[in-house]
Amino acid sequence: MKSRTKVAVIGGGIAGCSTLYHLTQEGWSDVVLIERDELTSGTTWHSAAQVTNFGMNQTMVGLKSHSIALYKKLRDDPEYPVGYHHGDGGIRLANTEGHMQGYRHFASMARGMGVEYEILDAEECARRHPLISTENLLGGLWDGEDGDIDPAQLCQALAFHARKAGAEVYRNTAVTGLKQLSDDTWVVQTTKGDIAADIVVNAGGYRVNEIGAMMGVRHPVASMEHQYFVTEDIPAIAEAGHRMPLLRCPISDYYSRQEKGGLLVGFYEQDCKTWGMDGISPDFSNDLCPDDLDRVMDVLEGAFERMPVLADVGIKRVVNGPITYTIDGAPLVGPIPGKRNAFCIIGLRAGLGEGGGHGWLLAQQIVHGEACYDTWCIDPRRFTGHATVELTALKAVEDYQNEFRFHFPHEHRPAGRPAKTTPLTPVLAAEGAEFTIVNGWERMDYIKPTPDFVATHSFAFDNTFAAVGAEVAHVHTKVGLCEVSGFNRFEITGADRHAFMDRMSCSFVPKKDGRVGLVYLLNEQGMVKSEATVANLPASDRGPERMWYGSAAASEYHDMDWLRAHMRADEDVQIRSLTNDMTILVLAGPDARAVLQACARGDWSNDAFPFLRVRECEIGFAPATVMRVSFSGELAYEIHVPNASLYAAYLALRAAGENFDLRLFGARAVESMRMEKGFLHWKADLITEFDPYETGLTRFVRLDKGPFVGREALRERLTSAPRKQLVTLHVKTDHAPAHAGASLMEAGRVVGTITSGAWGYRTQKNLAYAFVETDFANVGATMSLDLCGDLIEAEVIAPGAFDPEHKRMRG
Ligand SMILES: Cc1cc2nc3c(=O)[nH]c(=O)nc-3n(C[C@H](O)[C@H](O)[C@H](O)COP(=O)(O)OP(=O)(O)OC[C@H]3O[C@@H](n4cnc5c(N)ncnc54)[C@H](O)[C@@H]3O)c2cc1C
Repeated sequence: MKSRTKVAVIGGGIAGCSTLYHLTQEGWSDVVLIERDELTSGTTWHSAAQVTNFGMNQTMVGLKSHSIALYKKLRDDPEYPVGYHHGDGGIRLANTEGHMQGYRHFASMARGMGVEYEILDAEECARRHPLISTENLLGGLWDGEDGDIDPAQLCQALAFHARKAGAEVYRNTAVTGLKQLSDDTWVVQTTKGDIAADIVVNAGGYRVNEIGAMMGVRHPVASMEHQYFVTEDIPAIAEAGHRMPLLRCPISDYYSRQEKGGLLVGFYEQDCKTWGMDGISPDFSNDLCPDDLDRVMDVLEGAFERMPVLADVGIKRVVNGPITYTIDGAPLVGPIPGKRNAFCIIGLRAGLGEGGGHGWLLAQQIVHGEACYDTWCIDPRRFTGHATVELTALKAVEDYQNEFRFHFPHEHRPAGRPAKTTPLTPVLAAEGAEFTIVNGWERMDYIKPTPDFVATHSFAFDNTFAAVGAEVAHVHTKVGLCEVSGFNRFEITGADRHAFMDRMSCSFVPKKDGRVGLVYLLNEQGMVKSEATVANLPASDRGPERMWYGSAAASEYHDMDWLRAHMRADEDVQIRSLTNDMTILVLAGPDARAVLQACARGDWSNDAFPFLRVRECEIGFAPATVMRVSFSGELAYEIHVPNASLYAAYLALRAAGENFDLRLFGARAVESMRMEKGFLHWKADLITEFDPYETGLTRFVRLDKGPFVGREALRERLTSAPRKQLVTLHVKTDHAPAHAGASLMEAGRVVGTITSGAWGYRTQKNLAYAFVETDFANVGATMSLDLCGDLIEAEVIAPGAFDPEHKRMRG
């Protein structure tokens, strides 16, 4: 074994083997893989190993397509061929119109990644899969590239090619400890001695948290037992004369694919079980959990009804093994939060289909700092302090029980709620609030029109439409109050704080006390990394001179790691997070100033406290920091209050608002209003795939202000034309919003992709943002939006359709 390496990958399942292979593909050959047993002795060896293109967003579709392309290449490689049934095709069934609508949206979304699905009716499903009945079936989604692969051969082939490129694989070598030295080198302790590594990768499968514990981390990953059986040969398959397509059934929660002359059928039973929560025996390797077919009886019946042939055939083999889950079902692939030079590729529940792509995106992140797609949907930092293993287990059970039932827009399932709350959460609930979830935080979405109101989840405008419209109207004509829970807030102190933020951002950073500014952070490639509101607070009884850095609720770990990674030892800069300590109350509407004036001393007139200013005060007697900023486009104040005083501040505002008919409004109203103003959302419209010019942020870029992260790359980018441009669209229908990922078409070709969509109640327009080819970026350009299968005209309009001169929010 070497004594030093650039990267040590821990774990030789599909995750580790794919990472090792792709590191060599990215040009790094001094890399090793350490496996406690033989390769694939965790979950990988017994996987059903179905491989599909189907994904919930474009990054997932893109990485799965990469897997398929790679697996085809490996299958065709005469030196080390891999058994891969590519192109059996697969059907995802549906028995509700809502589910079919979702499939149509996913087809629109995938087309932008060069992947074509077909939408089938029930008869066509049965024609392609002659073993199924059409009883209680509406239709399905067809992915012609579906197939299955030999998992052991796949991993051996990846390791073979990695070795050929210089990588080393140490089998029967367990990692027993991880220590980080002051120069950030990791000492990887193993049963065969130590190896020093610049970078470590946790690819430990269900042992993820044994490895996590070695570096003081507990990853939000939990395992579930999962079973399939393999049948004896089925004569009807031989008679069909072609391989059976894969089936995935959200009606009765099972999947099936052909295995030799029979079928492999896997189950997602309601009475499901977590696994390994109290520790895993060190001897569990190349092993399975005991069979327990009794547990899957509830779903077995549905499978038998759909495929009656199953009733007449014997079961050859049962497999019951552990499979890892995360809080939202997507894996954790990327930097480990709070650690330097440490990455993970864990929580893979469909690792054979996805593993090729995840290893590819991870290797790019390790070697280049960023991948070709925005990887937020798999970023380990998307979960923060609430993400315990116990919470993960609750979500894992819920997810498992709903394996093939995707979330509808605005749908949040009940397990593990409430995870993060403020003192106001129960108060707002008593006022009739319905909540959405942002990074675990319960955030007021809208006030229910009646106490027993239940939202209908749909890809069309749903039954909240009128209630949200009434909230917008009230904010527009009178005054509203909204709690923004979980908004990310760092306090930056030290004499070099402005120089530091100047280096971190491409924008003008305000330096004067009491000033507020919106700034953008770029990555080393000059692409959009983060967005922050920075505010300069003077020294007071609450602290020394300091800067507040406010960003999206989910960005806490992401932004903290990014800022800390760039702090210099000789700089006087300290950063601490106040995210869990404070909450924002937004007061918005033409009467907002009068309400504020009625509960806080001082002169709040426009002259005394204009737009983009910050001031400390008391709301009633509650300490607060007020910023004059607006996401709604109305006159608005962000009131930042320590959580201990939040209820007191709320009561003071409600009392002051009584004379002004102050009412509550929620996140859905905010979403509508921000789109009417042309304001962007982090990780919806602001992604690492585009630079600030392409994203329409030119006015925020100060190339000549001095060095900042990403400046040289951005300069370089200016020498070539933008690839796409973010535009605002008027979507010419009033029955459904545009959904993120949907394709914009022209002459049968995809010319753009939606990033956000919402109804604009003040402008009476169905609005969307999209990145489109530059030929389609001019105001007045039209194209067709594939909105769940319907082609709808979409016209480019000027950004900020509501009050384009910003008179209301600045007045
Ligand atoms: C019954 C079943 C059916 C499935 N069907 C499908 C399917 O159809 N399609 C699909 O895509 N996915 C499927 N999956 C999921 C898929 O198999 C997994 O997502 C995938 O195998 C996980 O791979 P991994 O590399 O993350 O973990 P593993 O395969 O568990 O690999 C982790 C490796 O790390 C090693 N290791 C752990 N600790 C240490 C240590 N301290 N030192 C050194 N080495 C260590 C282990 O020995 C192991 O080899 C299925 C899973 C199950 C259980």
